[in-house]
Amino acid sequence: NQVADPVALPIVPCPDCGRRVVTFVARTGQFEGERFYKCRNHNPKKGGCDFYRWEEAYAEHLASLGPTAPPLAQINLGENEVGGGGQGGQL
Ligand SMILES: [Zn+2]
Repeated sequence: NQVADPVALPIVPCPDCGRRVVTFVARTGQFEGERFYKCRNHNPKKGGCDFYRWEEAYAEHLASLGPTAPPLAQINLGENEVGGGGQGGQL
């Protein structure tokens, strides 16, 4: 039962590893209802990235990037590879 939730802050690439940052809202605990942002690769216990920010800290991170942070759309995520479909059917 996921609520469509407007993302308050722009999503920028992880400053540590360049992967996409994802945002969630905490559902339990003392921070219930608070939005946070973390690296898609967040997994510091297994050698992954440790980028994880509550909204306030993430806003500060954005501010540190300056007013012209690149929109995600311009970033090559490498997820849209073209061609190479092994459908070599001959008629
Ligand atoms: Zn990262």
